[in-house]
Amino acid sequence: MDRGVLVNEYLETSVPGIFAAGDIARWPDPHSGEKIRVEHWVVAERQGQTAAKNILGQKIPFEVVPFFWSQHYDTTINYVGHAEHWDSIHIEGDLDALDCSIKFQADGRTVAVASIGRDLENLKAEEALERETVTPA
Ligand SMILES: Cc1cc2nc3c(=O)[nH]c(=O)nc-3n(C[C@H](O)[C@H](O)[C@H](O)COP(=O)(O)OP(=O)(O)OC[C@H]3O[C@@H](n4cnc5c(N)ncnc54)[C@H](O)[C@@H]3O)c2cc1C
Repeated sequence: MDRGVLVNEYLETSVPGIFAAGDIARWPDPHSGEKIRVEHWVVAERQGQTAAKNILGQKIPFEVVPFFWSQHYDTTINYVGHAEHWDSIHIEGDLDALDCSIKFQADGRTVAVASIGRDLENLKAEEALERETVTPA
C-alpha cells in the first residue's frame, strides 16, 4: 500500500495473480518516472482492459498517458499528462475567452497540458507526451 494499492507495470499487485486497476491502483508511470495514482474515468477503463489481458496470460505494460475531459456548464476542460508538481505554468491564448492551452513544466519538460476550446491541440499534446518516457529513479 502507498496511498492506494501498489502494482507493477502489468498492474499486478505484490500478490501474484491479484491485479488492481482504476482509482485504487498506483502504478509506475513510464512518462513521469514516478508511481502515480489517477482518478480519471478513461484511465480506469484502459487499466481494466490491460489488467484483463494480463490476467489472461498476456504481458502488456500499462503505458497510457492519463487524460480527462470534463464539462463544467458551457466550459469543457481537457487535461492530459500528470503534474503533481511543476516549476512553471505557461498560458497560450486567452483564458477569459475560453480559448487557451496551459502547459505545466517541470525540469524543462512539459508534463501536462490543460486546454479549453482547443481539442485538437490537446490531442497533439497527448501524442507528444506518449513519445516521452523516463527511466524510474
Ligand atoms: C463527482 C465526480 C466527478 C468526476 N468527474 C470526472 C470527470 O469529469 N472526468 C473523469 O475522467 N473522471 C471523473 N471522475 C472520476 C471517475 O468517476 C473515476 O476515476 C472512475 O469512476 C474510477 O473507476 P473505478 O472503476 O476505478 O472506481 P469506481 O467507479 O469507484 O468503482 C468502484 C466500484 O467498487 C464498488 N465497491 C466498493 N467497495 C466494494 C466492496 N467491498 N465489494 C464490492 N464492490 C465494492 C463500488 O460500489 C463501485 O461501484 C469523477 C468522480 C467523481 C466522484
